[in-house]
Amino acid sequence: MDMLAAVLYGPRDVRMERVPIPEPGRGEVLVRVGAATTCGTDAKVYVRGEHPKMITPPAIFGHEFSGTVDKVGPGGSKWKRGQRVVAANSAPCGRCFFCRKELPELCEDLLFMNGAYAQYALVPERIAETNLREIPESVPFEHASLAEPLACVVHGFEQIPVSADTTVAVNGAGPIGLFFLQLLKAAKARVIQSDSSPGRLDIARLLGADEVVNICGVGDQVSAVRGLTDGGRGADIAIEAVGIPEVWEKTVKMVRKGGLALLFGGCPSGTTFRLDTASLHYDELTVKGAFHHTPRAFRRALEMLSSGIVNAGAMITARFPLEKVADALQMILDHRGVKSAVIPPE
Ligand SMILES: [Zn+2]
Ligand SMILES: [Zn+2]
Repeated sequence: MDMLAAVLYGPRDVRMERVPIPEPGRGEVLVRVGAATTCGTDAKVYVRGEHPKMITPPAIFGHEFSGTVDKVGPGGSKWKRGQRVVAANSAPCGRCFFCRKELPELCEDLLFMNGAYAQYALVPERIAETNLREIPESVPFEHASLAEPLACVVHGFEQIPVSADTTVAVNGAGPIGLFFLQLLKAAKARVIQSDSSPGRLDIARLLGADEVVNICGVGDQVSAVRGLTDGGRGADIAIEAVGIPEVWEKTVKMVRKGGLALLFGGCPSGTTFRLDTASLHYDELTVKGAFHHTPRAFRRALEMLSSGIVNAGAMITARFPLEKVADALQMILDHRGVKSAVIPPE
């Protein structure tokens, strides 16, 4: 038996191929993919043709997916054929230095999986044990697939103190920036959202952004954002959700004295950014990073998608059949839309 899959061979070289359906080994779970969603990381991998930590070509790629359990490998697994499930793209080892310190996102042996852009995806034993979850009947596959990126944001959100009188500047209105917006509004914070795309800023407004700043139209973005804060003092918290060193610098400059900058977007490796020593010292700034997700955040993310705390429908702005996955990734590179659902043939 074979299946259709999108195989990455190198930079911008993705080929639709018929490959054998994987046979689940000990503890592994074979999932018939219901929907996959596109992600900035996949677009990056598509352009570069590889990712040192996540994927070595040729390989089936994509990492956000959900579907139905098709076959369970030998070894007393709790999973049964027909269950609707979503898997995270990684699982920590549970034994290393960082796992023992309850920092599983920093696990020294984080196991990644790829293979979402196919009719079937094979979930490794460790992910099947710790980061595979059953989806409630009411949650469609394309919404459930958002649990992974949302889990990253839930983990970032756990790093910041937010209450009803907090003003937060969010830089970026892509999937990550818009997920932050939704969690912040659920916590009743006031949100100032910046982006260069009018379409994405419209969605931000729809999802409750109190102020939107189009960075193309305001000259100096930092003063534009500060101008929208109490007395021009700056935001209590500023979040970088883009992954560009210049935006990291701007984000820190938007924060008021005693405030916090959460630098969330991953920048190209080897890049650096500048911090003003005086402002860090005299203004008592906190500068914080956040990476990836934890099993707890993944669980929480699925709960939020199920309970409607998060508007998943607004995040999916296009749909493509699996055969057109390259077009779906091109939309990200062109900054069009938010996320696309990629649907394999029945
Ligand atoms: Zn992702
Ligand atoms: Zn570990």
